[in-house]
Amino acid sequence: MKTVGLLGGMSWESTASYYKTINEGVKHSLGGLHSAKIAMVSVDFHEIEQLQHKGEWGETASILTSAAQSIESAGADFLLICTNTMHKVAVDIQANISIPLFHIADATAQELQVDGITKVGLLGTRFTMEQDFYKSRLINHFNIDVIVPDSDQQTIIHNVIYNELCLGIINIDSKKQYLNIINDLFRQGAQAVILGCTEIALLVKQTDTNVPLYDTTQIHANAAVKMALGFL
Ligand code: GLU
Repeated sequence: MKTVGLLGGMSWESTASYYKTINEGVKHSLGGLHSAKIAMVSVDFHEIEQLQHKGEWGETASILTSAAQSIESAGADFLLICTNTMHKVAVDIQANISIPLFHIADATAQELQVDGITKVGLLGTRFTMEQDFYKSRLINHFNIDVIVPDSDQQTIIHNVIYNELCLGIINIDSKKQYLNIINDLFRQGAQAVILGCTEIALLVKQTDTNVPLYDTTQIHANAAVKMALGFL
């Protein structure tokens, strides 16, 4: 079994989901007392969040690169960054480590392609919805058309992530707002919606809506299990 590298803490609420899903996946495949081999570094999200909102992405890249190097030194065979947003600096991180970085958007796009989805809605932080680093990967590498919520809706989605979900707060009104936005994206022609922030599935589940949802946390973590066990 390969060792999964996890760069976590952004936030730890979703890193906990990764840890659980990966261990459950290995146990499910191998049975008994089997569990995943994991090398993890978990950063202080307060520091990262402050830098994000000041636009100091270079500094975030330095912090995450040195964390990724520690993960490599600890014996990881490949690396997952346990957040969609911080894939903004994925290229910088990959350039400074020798193990492969398994991109969350690639894992998600591969599932969308298998399911024949060619137009998708994207929910995430404002950085993920507004900027190009994530959407362009789906469009240019996988030929998947991406639509995002309007600016007011993006503010709602973004604020709920930072003020509630990353703090472990689950609010029923926020859930209703998210579901309305998901329905809007569906009405605009999205065949499915990507939960492109690793905490969103803590709030919205597939059982809450008929719109097909692609939970990046589950997809990324399950693909990591397949990689660790040599199925990918
Ligand atoms: N975990 C979130 C994501 O997937 C947001 C936290 C962050 O900014 O990294 O984008």
